[in-house]
Amino acid sequence: MVPGLLIAILWLPMAAWSQAVGEYAAGCQHNASALPDRGPGYYVIRRQQARYYGQPEMIRYLQDLGKKIVSAGLPPMLVADIAKRRGGPFAYGHRSHQTGLDADIWLRHPPPNPASERLATITAVDMVDHRDYYLTGAFTDHQRQLIALAAEDERVSRVFVHPLIKQAMCRAYRDADWQGRIRPWFGHSSHFHVRLHCPAGHHDCVPQAPVPRGSGCGHELAGWLQDRAGEITVTATAPWRPRLPRACAGWAE
Ligand SMILES: [Zn+2]
Repeated sequence: MVPGLLIAILWLPMAAWSQAVGEYAAGCQHNASALPDRGPGYYVIRRQQARYYGQPEMIRYLQDLGKKIVSAGLPPMLVADIAKRRGGPFAYGHRSHQTGLDADIWLRHPPPNPASERLATITAVDMVDHRDYYLTGAFTDHQRQLIALAAEDERVSRVFVHPLIKQAMCRAYRDADWQGRIRPWFGHSSHFHVRLHCPAGHHDCVPQAPVPRGSGCGHELAGWLQDRAGEITVTATAPWRPRLPRACAGWAE
């Protein structure tokens, strides 16, 4: 067979593949899917920012999580940023969310009433009193259950939450086999962040190292809880302009 023809035949089906390319904080995505603006158990908020694109695996994960939320009798979750249609770095805000495998879910109590509140301008609620450093009464069993449902899914690599929220999850579900996926990280007191594993067949997706063994509830968490200075410096964010993989050339706008 003529080599050029062979290449064309091999390339055609690949062009239709969705792919997460590169690292979570230095990559892009190909053939992303859009999360519909609402569905069972969820609403997409701030749609005007057009950050509701993800790999099909992420879209399915979020829709599955929505159905679990309905079954558990919890209020709908608020899905905020996933990624831009072609991924790549945001002009401001996050470093990751570049490959369609990261999603932010806002924490809010009481839950919003879409009949009377505009989802475009809704705000999250900070669960932490940062001055006296405790979880406020806004963090209820609803939030605990929501984070647990998000973390128990095998597709999940990590769930980032504020250290005080990690502490609350440790108290409620210390020995759960998914507890180690919940990772303390500053800047996650009014939302949590779900990161999926590289899906099978995404050969250009660079996985993050596996989470350490164990629950993460012991001395590691204690170190985070003592690091009040780290929390204060996290808000200083410079624009993040990583070098993207060659496979992302011309994709990330
Ligand atoms: Zn995030």
